[in-house]
Amino acid sequence: MIIRSGVLVAALAGLAGAAPLDPNSAAARVAGGALLDGQAYADAQALSDRIGQRLAGSAAAERAVEWALATMRAAGLKNVRREPVKIPRWLRGDERAEIVAPASLPLHAAALGGSVGTPKGGLTAEVIEVATPDELKTIGERARGKIVLFNKPMQRTRGFEGYGAAVGARGRGAVEAAKVGAVAALIRSVGTGPGRLPHTGATRYDDQVAKIPFAALAAEDAELLHRLLASGAVKVRLELGAHVASDVESANVVGEVPGREKPGEIVVIGAHLDSWDLGAGALDDAAGCAIALEVGRLTAAVGGARRTLRVVLFMNEENGLSGARAYAEAHKAELSQHAAALEADGGAGRPTGIAVVAPAATPAPSLPLVTAWAAPLAALQLDAPRVLDQGGSDLRPLQSAGVPIVDVLQDMSSYFDWHHSAGDTFDKIDPHDLALDAVAYAVMAFAAADAPERLPPSPPPPRW
Ligand code: ZN
Ligand code: ZN
Repeated sequence: MIIRSGVLVAALAGLAGAAPLDPNSAAARVAGGALLDGQAYADAQALSDRIGQRLAGSAAAERAVEWALATMRAAGLKNVRREPVKIPRWLRGDERAEIVAPASLPLHAAALGGSVGTPKGGLTAEVIEVATPDELKTIGERARGKIVLFNKPMQRTRGFEGYGAAVGARGRGAVEAAKVGAVAALIRSVGTGPGRLPHTGATRYDDQVAKIPFAALAAEDAELLHRLLASGAVKVRLELGAHVASDVESANVVGEVPGREKPGEIVVIGAHLDSWDLGAGALDDAAGCAIALEVGRLTAAVGGARRTLRVVLFMNEENGLSGARAYAEAHKAELSQHAAALEADGGAGRPTGIAVVAPAATPAPSLPLVTAWAAPLAALQLDAPRVLDQGGSDLRPLQSAGVPIVDVLQDMSSYFDWHHSAGDTFDKIDPHDLALDAVAYAVMAFAAADAPERLPPSPPPPRW
């Protein structure tokens, strides 16, 4: 692998030189291994290039399960197993979108995950544009019989903020559009990228409201519709073959480095094995799987920590979190023995900070603990540790049960250029940044598993 040597030297010097840490300590060896062995990059490539898209319920997702089992065993993890997860299987089918008036022009669209299809042969209707679902409530009857376009650009931010502000419309847009009598809905892709790419992602229905088809549109095509609408009516034809097939049995993949002193206490390092179907799921979330596997591999290599480190590769994060729920259900009896949980699901941008999920009231008692745990990462020049209200989405059921959640924040400023689109391919991963991510996760997970003290419980996550 290629590592920019200046930063490598600085990072190793920091690991060796930061006052609180003995350079020969296990944490330093864990971190040094993450920098040097290139395994995270190789694993991310295997998942992205050799297995490719891993839509939950697909044959490729099953191959990913088999690959993860073998990779965990080779990494020296113990008790490697599949834990069953039932997947509600959604399929995209063929899809096509085009402007039919005032001229015949192609559109780049993709059904959102979970969307219903159009009637066979598609549907054609006039488009009405709003910025947000809230604005739709103010236009009432004018949307009846039309295709609603939600057109609000997502802001580019270093963390999740821009996405968090934009993604709500993707979740509830179809429900709000159906309430005012629309026949379908389109949304400007929740993403920041160029390249006329639609970005998919999960949407939701309400059983009390008609289910109408809902698709993401490339940002450029949302702009095109906006310009055309400025001078008159625009008609679009939309044909989506999306549908739901019978449920499929799949699995979370779990492996452990048993604790040396307190094997019954557990620290989870998670990521999700499934992806959307348009790209190769490299950033989302082959990178995270590779990080989690590397944390397991390195912890095994140093003979483990005081507590058990459990690597969990969740199935079906993207389209319903059924793997997350299955894990929490299967491990209900031992959730009080979960000392911490982390999830790597923020792409492959370099680490920028550490966070702990705690009540907003300050000072959070867990902040000094995670600050001390992050000391070996001094050379990475991370931001001061922060308090968040939630961690990775697969950890929501654990957070609801009070499991302490720790997070490594990453630079996400280019992540949403490719997220959930056909552009999410392995070439977007920088080996150097990924190695630094593995360092940061390894240090934090190892510290949580090896520290004499435990973090206080996290508060429940906010409602979606
Ligand atoms: Zn993800
Ligand atoms: Zn995703």
